Amino acid sequence: MKILVIGASGQVGFELCRQLADTKHEVTSTVMKPEEGSSHLALDLGKIADVSAMILKVKPDVVINAAAYTAVDKAESEQELAMLVNADAVKAMAVAVKELGSTLIHYSTDYVFDGSGSEPRSEDAQTAPVNFYGKSKLDGEEYIRQSDCQHVIFRTSWVYGFHGHNFVKTMLRVGADRKELSVVSDQVGSPTSAKQIAECSIAAANCLDSDGDNVSKYVGTYHLTGSGFTNWADFAKEIFSLGSGFDEKVRGVTVKPIPSSDYPTPAKRPFNSRLDCSRLEKTFGVELDSWQSQLKGVVQEIYSN
Ligand code: NDP
Repeated sequence: MKILVIGASGQVGFELCRQLADTKHEVTSTVMKPEEGSSHLALDLGKIADVSAMILKVKPDVVINAAAYTAVDKAESEQELAMLVNADAVKAMAVAVKELGSTLIHYSTDYVFDGSGSEPRSEDAQTAPVNFYGKSKLDGEEYIRQSDCQHVIFRTSWVYGFHGHNFVKTMLRVGADRKELSVVSDQVGSPTSAKQIAECSIAAANCLDSDGDNVSKYVGTYHLTGSGFTNWADFAKEIFSLGSGFDEKVRGVTVKPIPSSDYPTPAKRPFNSRLDCSRLEKTFGVELDSWQSQLKGVVQEIYSN
């Protein structure tokens, strides 16, 4: 199968390229600004005409879009750019994919929901984003559905990985210099490793490939997170507990749980980010690892490099 990975320099894009390198799929990948000698092609999602042109030129069976404007707080003041990358560029991808008759695998977020209540949400639950990033991602989803292209949308949450910037690396870095950290404890959700997201995406691409006559049964939106729920403070405690096995500087760091009201941010966050992932497990036959076991693998990899 010919796969085009857009956004290969991000957390998920990096894992996708790493895992796809061990498969027989033919992979083309893009980043916004390739470094000298890089094998990635250049594609800036801010240039909408280039997005369609790239897809129509490469003619992939599957486009995986791992690029996004992910600066949640900055999106409040850079609304035009967030909308361009997360919605308008995604619309152009969907239209080009429809024209080719190929499939688009795309990522969205728990931030499409308002975070009320305490139950895990299903894919069909009412959306109502509380910040602009969430709104731009929801618009991207809706453009895909309206285009009628073959698609799989994975809504994920609290993403971290070996490559890129994320909460896990920030905690380990900051914790090495501090004995106590205040972390919010009233937002509940599921940490998700980029590795798990890439594994599920490749499993989905393989299902589409091997079951080509039944593609329509896979088309739709799926929740994809680590299994189990936690809050940011308890997530931080687990990071330090695992990290202290490798680095004595993060041993004994105390995490002080605080309410979100004590940590004001430009963008509001939903309190309840619990997602029900059973549709994904049933449809693609994958089993999602617990968030703790995913974290263990990533912390090990961070320290062994
Ligand atoms: P990252 O922030 O790690 O990576 C995003 C990528 O998008 C980067 O490679 C970035 O390039 C690229 N990008 C940004 N703007 C452009 C542009 N104009 N043109 C081309 N590329 C661009 O994101 P993740 O891997 O964490 O996220 C993957 C997906 O998961 C996204 O759709 C995101 O919305 C979603 N998601 C992420 C969550 C998280 O906690 N991170 C939570 C829920 C959903 P560069 O590095 O050059 O800036």
